[in-house]
Amino acid sequence: MESTLTARDRVGVQDFVLLENYTSEAAFIENLRRRFGENLIYTYIGSVLVSVNPNKDLEIYSKAHMERYRGVSFYEISPHIYAVSDNTYRAMRTERRDQCILISGESGAGKTEASKKILQYYATTCPVADRMSTLRDCLLQSNPVLEAFGNAKTLHNDNSSRFGKYMDVQFDFRGAPIGGHILNYLLEKSRVVHQNHGERNFHIFYQLLEGGEQDLLSKLGLERNAQKYQYLVKVCVCACVLMSCSSQGCCPRVSSINDKNDWRTVRKALTVIGFHEDEVEDLLNIIASVLHLGNTQFGEGKNGENQITTEPQLKYLSKMISPLSFEQAVAARDALAKAVYGRAFTWLVVKINQSLAFKDDVYNSSKGSSSVIGLLDIYGFEVFQHNSFEQFCINYCNEKLQQLFIELTLKSEQEEYEAEGITWEPVKYFDNKIICDLVEEKHKGLISILDEECLRPGEPSDISFLEKLEDTLGGHAHFVTHKLANAKTRKAVSREEFKLIHYAGEVNYSVNGFLDKNKDLLYRNLKEFDMSPLCFPLFDEALVRHQVKYLGLMENLRVRRAGFAYRRHYETFLQRYKSLCPGTWPNWQGRLADGVATLVQHLGYKPEEYKLGKTKIFIRFPKTLFSTEDSLEA
Ligand code: ATP
Ligand code: MG
Repeated sequence: MESTLTARDRVGVQDFVLLENYTSEAAFIENLRRRFGENLIYTYIGSVLVSVNPNKDLEIYSKAHMERYRGVSFYEISPHIYAVSDNTYRAMRTERRDQCILISGESGAGKTEASKKILQYYATTCPVADRMSTLRDCLLQSNPVLEAFGNAKTLHNDNSSRFGKYMDVQFDFRGAPIGGHILNYLLEKSRVVHQNHGERNFHIFYQLLEGGEQDLLSKLGLERNAQKYQYLVKVCVCACVLMSCSSQGCCPRVSSINDKNDWRTVRKALTVIGFHEDEVEDLLNIIASVLHLGNTQFGEGKNGENQITTEPQLKYLSKMISPLSFEQAVAARDALAKAVYGRAFTWLVVKINQSLAFKDDVYNSSKGSSSVIGLLDIYGFEVFQHNSFEQFCINYCNEKLQQLFIELTLKSEQEEYEAEGITWEPVKYFDNKIICDLVEEKHKGLISILDEECLRPGEPSDISFLEKLEDTLGGHAHFVTHKLANAKTRKAVSREEFKLIHYAGEVNYSVNGFLDKNKDLLYRNLKEFDMSPLCFPLFDEALVRHQVKYLGLMENLRVRRAGFAYRRHYETFLQRYKSLCPGTWPNWQGRLADGVATLVQHLGYKPEEYKLGKTKIFIRFPKTLFSTEDSLEA
């Protein structure tokens, strides 16, 4: 029997709020699947944009697309990252309030790509302030530079962010970008000296070796061969045996990455941002010295101490010749490499910020009337077969971000309805504050215990830290160790691990190295590796379902569906729209709430479409109002 598919059957609904069976997770995922099948990767839940990574180029980011979204109301055009960008921009301008776009999702979900698209949108569509055209280029060019030094191939993502980034773009009173600022968080420095099997070091090392001119490499004492450098090609100890792998370990070349081309892009970007030639030289000297450090070897001296035995490295390392055991010498070398790289990265961000900062006195004087759009793009939640301190930090960051998301979309939203006296059936949701507290609570939380153990006199060790955790956090529902686990789950946690039950799933963390990494001395265990290369088939239902669940999207939808997309204080609302109704124009004399009621009734809203709270009006679907707002703006 043939059936005719309606457009809705084929492409699903563009806002989950319109889904008939809105409480069903299966219907939610089916809607995502249908849209994905039609290359429609974006869907709204009210003002939240859900995006599914297509992992292929879709032709939806052209200048023509940008123009299509410019100045058009959120609800009148298909969902897009440009609609969010534009809506945020207009909210900043009309409400004269700073705005922030939070991007969350697991590693490889597309957060960094989304943040770049947003920046490109502003760079292309916003007016350009006088003498500020270079700022636009600096904003855009900061991306390839930061990615070269702060991103790397992991098992989840060939271009994975290994640092967190919060970027502010500052706009003047006419809406033209006039400045920017980048805050960087917690670069994964341990990657400089060690990568899991199948992963790479930071892109810049390979870019320099592949793309650097021969003269430059000679000057830096480098060979054009990544295999020559220990920090780029670690010897896999037993992973290779188990996997019958004959290679030396990691993977200098990745099919999706063209290091040579990327080198050119980065070199150009450094110049655009305003790095002088000698500054670039300094930077590359640091990168080269890290590679040399990695190749330093140690041999026994006369008195049994370890000495550097590799001649060319001596000039870089003269200060490190001291009576150390082999392990201490290696650890000291690695700690130095990480510290050097970490500082170079910080310096890079400082330099970029100098180029993005206000320079013009004219604009400095109008600073007071400017507004800001903030963009948060951190490393996504990640779970490997072997997880250590780095994953703990990354996943804790994501836990905090999820808390902020819950706070903004679920908690404060429902609290506002209550405070305003709007009849409301509370929507239950999982509040991950309990996990954040477990990690960060003063004196009782995991981080406090770790800090205390690092400072304790005597012989603190990773295992004594684990025991302290067991003593203090033993009864916590989100914390499990081998000793605490019941017979059923014991197998899942080894004696050197603790398990955290995160909002996004369970993760076992090996305590090995926690103390040293927390102290930032960072001895390395060269046997650490991971043998679980994961791949993402493009619509992976299990992966999608997992994320729909942990991001709290179903709860979000329930709140949106039952809630009100638009709200304004009575006074602001009347002031703004009184001209649309003869009864309220030119001035309403009575109670503000009565004036607002007169106005919305005149605009044709039915009683079920709005609610009057104690101080604000709430409108369920504000389509008509938004289009009026556009015409008022014009
Ligand atoms: P991490 O947390 O590891 O930094 P992420 O969420 O920032 O991950 P991205 O680096 O943005 O992930 O995306 C991973 C890859 O997916 C990109 O390199 C790109 O190949 C692809 N991708 C992401 N978004 C899109 C998109 N909108 N269109 C096409 N491809 C995309
Ligand atoms: Mg990223």
